[in-house]
Amino acid sequence: MAKTETKSIRRKKRNIGGNDEIITLSKVSKAYATGAPALNGIDLHVKKGEFVFIVGDSGSGKSTLIKLLLRELVPTSGEINVMGYDLVRLRRRKIPKFRRNLGIVFQDFRLLKDRDVYENVAFAQRIIQVSGKEIKRNVPSILSTVGLAGKYKARPRELSGGEQQRVAIARALVNRPSILLADEPTGNLDPKNSWEIMKLLEQINESGTTVLVVTHNREIVNAMQKRVVTMKKGVIVSDEEKGGYIDDED
Ligand code: ADP
Ligand code: MG
Repeated sequence: MAKTETKSIRRKKRNIGGNDEIITLSKVSKAYATGAPALNGIDLHVKKGEFVFIVGDSGSGKSTLIKLLLRELVPTSGEINVMGYDLVRLRRRKIPKFRRNLGIVFQDFRLLKDRDVYENVAFAQRIIQVSGKEIKRNVPSILSTVGLAGKYKARPRELSGGEQQRVAIARALVNRPSILLADEPTGNLDPKNSWEIMKLLEQINESGTTVLVVTHNREIVNAMQKRVVTMKKGVIVSDEEKGGYIDDED
């Protein structure tokens, strides 16, 4: 107990200095066993409460960046700090506690096919041993936030793609994470559903969650006027407030 306390005080101290950064990457590189490095000396600073789009060609390193932030991968070199956790030195047994503060959404929804909407969301709470009473309160509340209150008994196959992604977002949010990471969340959706999902992510951000969204959707990125980080071949080639999609030569 005392040891844990000391560590958390130390973590907080490192964050002192007028620093409200929630994500810090310094000179981060990641090489896989084969091929050119997927990331090559990336610096990225994200403040609490920001909304950041990450764009770039296929293969530019966007998903690798997301996996590093989730501590699914560790960098080959460089430093990563997320919510005060030093991800290079984080002990394996501490990873679940770290991940509780993160919500993640993927292109392919990744729902449990044989469970209904309610169970798909409740499952995320059961994993962290939330009481049954609280689950009964939290799940309907988050389902209504994502506009699915009436669909709690549906199975994923009975839902549209947009609705399935809303379930995935509800599941990502039910444990009240500080950061929501989304890797091409609209990649399988039509334009109307893509807009609805992005607006939902914006709304989540406006209620205080830091949101990072990897996307290829030019129209939405250009219209939403958020911070845009553009990656190319493993490096960040631009990082703009109220940015747009940079046209590529190809
Ligand atoms: P993006 O998400 O921008 O499309 P990725 O981060 O998935 O890019 O991939 C970046 C580079 O790393 C690509 O060249 C890709 O082929 C390579 N890569 C990704 N995952 C692996 C892996 N598990 N093993 C080897 N190379 C990989
Ligand atoms: Mg990717």
